[in-house]
Amino acid sequence: MNTLKSKQLFEQAQKSIVGGVNSPVRAFKSVGGHPIFMRSAKGAYLYDEDKNRYIDLINSWGPMLLGHANDAVIEAVQAVLKDSFSFGAPTSAEVEIAELIKSMMPNIEMLRMVNSGTEATMAAIRVARGFTKKDKIIKFEGCYHGHADSFLIAAGSGAATMGIPDSQGVTSKTAQDTLTVPYNDLGALEAILITNAGMVAAIILEPVVGNMGCVLPKEGYLQGVRALCDEHNVLLIFDEVMTGFRLAKGGAQALFGVKPDLTTLGKIIGGGLPVGAYGGRTDIMSMVAPLGPVYQAGTLSGNPVAMASGLATLKQIKASTAIIEKANHNAQQIADGMRIINSKLGLNYTINRIGSMFTLFFTDRPVHNFNDAKSSDTKLFAAYFHEMLKRGVYLAPSQYESLFVSMAIQDADIQHILEAHEDSMSLIQDQN
Ligand SMILES: *Cc1c(COP(=O)(O)O)cnc(C)c1O
Repeated sequence: MNTLKSKQLFEQAQKSIVGGVNSPVRAFKSVGGHPIFMRSAKGAYLYDEDKNRYIDLINSWGPMLLGHANDAVIEAVQAVLKDSFSFGAPTSAEVEIAELIKSMMPNIEMLRMVNSGTEATMAAIRVARGFTKKDKIIKFEGCYHGHADSFLIAAGSGAATMGIPDSQGVTSKTAQDTLTVPYNDLGALEAILITNAGMVAAIILEPVVGNMGCVLPKEGYLQGVRALCDEHNVLLIFDEVMTGFRLAKGGAQALFGVKPDLTTLGKIIGGGLPVGAYGGRTDIMSMVAPLGPVYQAGTLSGNPVAMASGLATLKQIKASTAIIEKANHNAQQIADGMRIINSKLGLNYTINRIGSMFTLFFTDRPVHNFNDAKSSDTKLFAAYFHEMLKRGVYLAPSQYESLFVSMAIQDADIQHILEAHEDSMSLIQDQN
C-alpha cells in the first residue's frame, strides 16, 4: 500500500502544527510510522490522499454510528447553510434538539448544548461543585473525560498512550481536588468516600469505559456506585460522550437502568460536527447562568449547522431500533470471528465487547480496570495495527482505545476484516 502523500503531508504538517496533528491520538506515536491523511469517506469506508480505501473501525472516535456522509445528514446540513452559519441568538433547532435529547435520555430534565465533550464534562463538575458547595471530585484510573485540568489525573486514552496520564501545566491545587480510584472496585471507592467525608461534590465515570480500551462494568457495579453516592450525599455524573445514543438510544443509563444526577454527551450527538451537551436534574441544572450563579457560556454553542447535523443523526437513531442493532450485530460478528481465529492460532487474548464497542487486548488477563489493560503487549499491538492498516482496515492507533463499529459495515466487510485479522495475527506471531 502506497501512502507517500500522507508521509509528505505529515512532514509538511510538523513544520506548522504541533506534532503535525490537531489531537495527539491521531499522531501514530505509540504505533510508529506516519498518520494517514484522509480525503473523503462514505458509509463504511475511508479514502486517503493516495486513494487507498480502508474499512473504518473508529468512525471519527465514535460520532459516525450511521457511517460516513449519511445522506439524510448531508441534506439537513446543506439545507441550513444558505440561511447563514451562526447568529449568536437562539434558534428553533436548539429547542428541537433539546426536546429530542430529553425524549431519548431517561435522566435529563434540563440541558445545555456546548461544543465538545470536554466542555460538557468541565461544566458538569462546575455545576456539581456549585450545587453541593464541595470541592473534590472522584474519577477512575484510566477514564478520560476530555482535557480540562481537573481530569488530567490518571487520564486514559491519548494521555495513557503517550505515557503522560498526569499532565504538566495542571496546578497541584487542582490536582489535589481530583481523587482517583481503580474502576470496578466498590471497596476502594467506599474507602475514599469515607476518608474524604463531606468534601466530595461528585463522582464522574464512563459507565462503560472506552478510554482504557473497552472495559465493562462488573455485574452490579454501577448500581453499587449509585448506592454509595446516595449514602455519602455525592452527585453521580455519567460521562456518556462515547456511550450515549450508541449502547442504547438512552445510552448506558438506559441499558443498565442506573440513574445518574448529571449526564455528559458528545460525539454522536453532533453526527460529526463539534457538539456536546450536559444535563440532568432540574434542581441541579437551575444553578447554571442565567438562572443561577454557576457561569457557563459559548459563542458558538447551539450552532445551527451543528444542530442540523446532530438532529438529522439523532432523529434516525430514535426512529429505528435497527440502527443500533445493526451496529451491535456487526461488532459481535467481528469480535466473535476474531475470538475463533485467535483460538485456532492458539492465542488467548482478551476481547471485551459490549454493543458496538470492542477492544482486542494483547493480554490473556481478563481486563476489568486500567492496571489489567496495562498488562497488554503494546509492541505486539503496534505490529498488528500496521498489518491491519496494510490490509485496508483502519483501527485506533493505540491499544488503550475502544473501536466503534458503524451500522454501515456489511457482511463482505466483516469477511475482509476477519481475513485481515487472521493474516496479521499469524504474521506477527511468527515474527514474535
Ligand atoms: C471523547 C471523550 C470526551 C471528550 O470529548 P471531546 O469532544 O474530545 O472534547 C470526554 N469523555 C469521554 C468519555 C470521551 O470519550
